[in-house]
Amino acid sequence: MAQHFLLSAAARTLSLRAIYSEGEEVAYRRFCRLRWPDTEGAPVCPLCGCMDIYEVTTRRRFKCAACYRQFSVTSGTIFASRKLTFVDLLGAICLFVNASKGLSAV
Ligand SMILES: [Zn+2]
Repeated sequence: MAQHFLLSAAARTLSLRAIYSEGEEVAYRRFCRLRWPDTEGAPVCPLCGCMDIYEVTTRRRFKCAACYRQFSVTSGTIFASRKLTFVDLLGAICLFVNASKGLSAV
């Protein structure tokens, strides 16, 4: 009988302890890798798909060289206009996806 995916080692790669011990910068980079997995976390313009991007380092935003639109790693996602830190967002995702019996979104 095959093992359920949630019991496998691959499903346990995102631990709550690791998320909170690594800090905000690592959580931000992890968010980038999750958002743009094809480019290993390098930003891609969500509007035109251009990969020629300027980075606004002071505000964690990016600017597209083709359409000049500014965007962030959370633009166009449910995390846009968030007030939580990336560590807290990632921690909430970890708790939510690892609750095998389900978890209230509230
Ligand atoms: Zn663009």
